[in-house]
Amino acid sequence: MTNKEYANFLLPNVEHDWSYYEEKYPKRDLKEGAIVSRYAPSPTGLPHIGNIYQSFISYSFCKQTNGIFFLRIEDTDGKRTIENGIQAILDTIKPFNIEFNEGPISQTEAKGNYGPYIQSERKDIYQAYAKKLIEEDKAYPCFYTQEEMDQIREYQSHKKQRIGIYKKYAKYRDLSKEEAIEKINNNEKYIIRLKSPGDFENKVILHDLIKGDIELPENDIDEVIIKSDGLPTYAFAHAIDDHLMHTTHVIRGDEWVSSYPVHEQLFKVLGFQVPKYAHIAPITVKEGETVRKLSKRKDPEATISYYYEKGIPNEVIKLYLATIVNFDFEEWYTNNTDKSINDFNFEFSKMPIGGTAFDLEKLMSISRTYFSRLKNTELFDMLDKYTLEYDKEFNSIINEDKEYSLNILNIERDVERPRKDIASLEEVKKYFWYMYPSLFDKNTEEYMEVKKCDKQIVLDYINNIYDEKDDQETWFNKVKEYACLNGYTSDKKEYKENPDKFIGMVSDFCALLRVIIVKKNQSPNIYYLIKYLGKNELLKRIELFYK
Ligand code: GLU
Repeated sequence: MTNKEYANFLLPNVEHDWSYYEEKYPKRDLKEGAIVSRYAPSPTGLPHIGNIYQSFISYSFCKQTNGIFFLRIEDTDGKRTIENGIQAILDTIKPFNIEFNEGPISQTEAKGNYGPYIQSERKDIYQAYAKKLIEEDKAYPCFYTQEEMDQIREYQSHKKQRIGIYKKYAKYRDLSKEEAIEKINNNEKYIIRLKSPGDFENKVILHDLIKGDIELPENDIDEVIIKSDGLPTYAFAHAIDDHLMHTTHVIRGDEWVSSYPVHEQLFKVLGFQVPKYAHIAPITVKEGETVRKLSKRKDPEATISYYYEKGIPNEVIKLYLATIVNFDFEEWYTNNTDKSINDFNFEFSKMPIGGTAFDLEKLMSISRTYFSRLKNTELFDMLDKYTLEYDKEFNSIINEDKEYSLNILNIERDVERPRKDIASLEEVKKYFWYMYPSLFDKNTEEYMEVKKCDKQIVLDYINNIYDEKDDQETWFNKVKEYACLNGYTSDKKEYKENPDKFIGMVSDFCALLRVIIVKKNQSPNIYYLIKYLGKNELLKRIELFYK
């Protein structure tokens, strides 16, 4: 039996030869320097912050080099695959504006000429290349039963040896074709293993674009390439897919660093060019004394729904992630008020080598900056959408008089240094509830302590002095003059010397007005609060305060 016949016997019913695929997926016609990379998740659940982080990184590098970014679904581990897992990935990633040039666009459809982009639909392709290796005597069938494999593993760990099928453990490596055929005819089950040409004593160097050069022992393990279900292992699929899809850069989690020698070996054995690698360090969480990866099961803030519920936009999450990707992003963002993330040029060399602790505080602070840069109309639209889903009552309140709401949202917004108070859409109500009389009437909070004057003084101020047509300066000058005529002073020194002679300073009069309106001693500029609430509401609140 020739090698070719033997390969056909081991992997029958494979429609095409490997060379068919080499022709079918020609080199991409791209400019020098264009990065082709991918996001290659397993459809095992909803993507979380760590997944967004990885896909955002790959996407950014492809986009900024006018390259190709594609989605590949790695579902060869059928047991873990969930129903509609592809749709779940698409639905989660899409709102982040992380766009794929190629890949699945729904559970059943895809775009691009290098597909299928779902590994379980590529079985024939993997087998065609496995056959190539068998023909070249670089791969072989292995007949160990699960029980035998368990025994070997147990023995190796007991003897503190490396785990795996290598050297003397590679019992079927040199089996003759005839012996193998006999076993198969006797219905013995087999998988296909690589005949590793490596020597553990040799070194390979991973030239990682993020971590620098990493020296690792060469692989000498006869790794499985085709499993008993006919599907490939991750390593084999990785080599074939990234070769045929012409990936220039493999950008993936650094848990794969230690498997690099196997991957490099597979590329070489298959006669493929080895792509560049960039291994991303994870986002971590400190738990007691140990540091672990951010986990969607343990950390609520790792899930995307956490941010949706609070009304923290995807853009903010991306901005925060960008600060992790490149250490100089944050400064750039702060200094470039008119730019968006896509204008930044990310670099591999500025990425963290080790894990970065997830910092929700920092995310919230970035969120404040983000919200402060929105126009009132933009903020209103977001708030409208958010409250429609999470707070219907507030939604109808803000829509009762949209112009009024827009005015409120514009307080200290349309200025050189806008207020940085709102970190989430959920918080808007917390900052502005008192501007809506219906919410004020329902509020049961106590008024904060404040120096009081006679009720009549405040009533007279509103009735006789306040004029809604005044600009801010005139308004303040009038307040000052009125307060000083009614027992307040603007002279700090004088007040210090004779505190009993005065009700307080002019600032105390303003503080009183503020507490009457807001119940608290902090708020945006009360000039606007009074202006928008209007005289009648003010008079009502004065009555309530002095009750
Ligand atoms: N499916 C692999 C994972 O989820 C992908 C790794 C890669 O990007 O090659 O970790």
